[in-house]
Amino acid sequence: MSARPKQSARPKQSRKPQPRSPQARPALDVREPQSPATSFRQAGLPRALVNALSERGIETPFAIQAATLPDALAGEDILARAQTGSGKTLGFGLPMLAALVAFREHSGRPRRYSPRAIILVPTRELAAQVARELTPLAQSLGMHGVVVTGGAPYGPQRTALHRGVDYVVATPGRLIDLVDNGDCELGSIEISVLDEADHMCELGFLEPMQEILRQVPERGQRMLFSATLDGDVDSLAAEFMPSPILVATDPEVSPIDTMTHHIVEVPDWRRKRAVVAALANGSGRTLIFVRSQIGADRVADELKESGIPAGSLHGGKTQAVRTRALQSFMDGYPRVLVATDVAARGIHVDDIDVVVHSDPPSDHKSYVHRSGRTARAGAGGTVVTVALTKERRGVDRVLKSAGVEPSMRREVSDAPDVVDLVGPPTPVRAVRPPREVHPKTNEQRQGRSKPRDRQDGRATTHEHRDGRNKTRRPQGGPKPARRGGSNSGTKAAPRSRG
Ligand code: AMP
Repeated sequence: MSARPKQSARPKQSRKPQPRSPQARPALDVREPQSPATSFRQAGLPRALVNALSERGIETPFAIQAATLPDALAGEDILARAQTGSGKTLGFGLPMLAALVAFREHSGRPRRYSPRAIILVPTRELAAQVARELTPLAQSLGMHGVVVTGGAPYGPQRTALHRGVDYVVATPGRLIDLVDNGDCELGSIEISVLDEADHMCELGFLEPMQEILRQVPERGQRMLFSATLDGDVDSLAAEFMPSPILVATDPEVSPIDTMTHHIVEVPDWRRKRAVVAALANGSGRTLIFVRSQIGADRVADELKESGIPAGSLHGGKTQAVRTRALQSFMDGYPRVLVATDVAARGIHVDDIDVVVHSDPPSDHKSYVHRSGRTARAGAGGTVVTVALTKERRGVDRVLKSAGVEPSMRREVSDAPDVVDLVGPPTPVRAVRPPREVHPKTNEQRQGRSKPRDRQDGRATTHEHRDGRNKTRRPQGGPKPARRGGSNSGTKAAPRSRG
């Protein structure tokens, strides 16, 4: 690796935290934010960035952005309590990009191996999503970033770092690997962002985060975003940002209020399967949460067997398969995704209408974050927890801790009892199933496929079901990545770095 470059001077700010030792744990001394910004331009974002936002239909700051922008643009450390879907990615992304523009003007391009900003995130999916949100904006400013996560080949990540990037979006483990191998050095970091800090702590990333932040120059700006600010997050903030601006736009454990919450009680597993299938068969996009990886595959298979196309997403799949599953769901086919908690946070898929807790979450945080996949960006959403009679008390406790009063509790013995929650099954459509999803069998290739069952050319029941999302077929997923490990959200600690 090349010699460590001299640190560039931050062109804008002067206020910085006092020197600190890793062992010391100063008390957190939070300060009040300035008045919220009324517009992106008034907040002082560069004109090019305001224009790039406008081209993407983003004209007015969301509450979290309005609250953080004035202080974040002034280089202050930010401690923000914000739920997923609140617009927090731009909350940290916009001031970061604005500062990177200033660094470019002041100090030119970043040096090899020496990014100027890091964004740490808990999962690869969230890393990909943050990059999707920021890349077009960064490109419009001539900035370059790289995503550095486990489960993907090292080569392209090293190559990008070698060339020099303005910012890195990373899961902590892979970033440490690259730092240890001399492919990345943190001495030029001016802005460090911790996104979903509470989830990173839950996944066992507290120490890797500390290891990274201890290598980052103290003069730099830190921004920590988290749904909750207690426990390890509090101690992390106390060590690395002793006097931050505290921004809290949402109540700590309250769900987005446009969601409606329902509990459906079923007497046994057989009835539960039927109810989950009926919920999955509604007209909207549906995300079903289960506890285990095996459970995710099993539920998806059962739905497919009953004619409802469904994908599954969990940490036991390779990164390439996970990316494809998520991409397909985002593209609209299949309209049902069965996931473990790996998908519970930070992933933005537009228009998820229904979240189903098929296996009820074990705690209120998990309930809030799983449920937060719907009702994003101000939209409405329906959340249904399907509880066996024996699970009912635990579910009541979880919802109470989450501050949720379900608008409906219902005991059902029959799947049609829940149809009103998700709308009637999607109408039968005369379309063929997408080829990518249902490749031809040998019989079909040899022209011996079963004849259609109707003279008018309508498809069989199976085809009707599969074809219901024809208009939103995937346009082809990203290239498969090399096989690698994974970070399941269901695990207490990362299996491997990154
Ligand atoms: P996030 O919470 O960062 O995942 O953002 C949720 C969604 O809101 C993303 O699709 C963003 O592109 C969108 N979004 C963020 N800020 C704004 C805004 N100010 N106006 C409109 N959409 C926004």
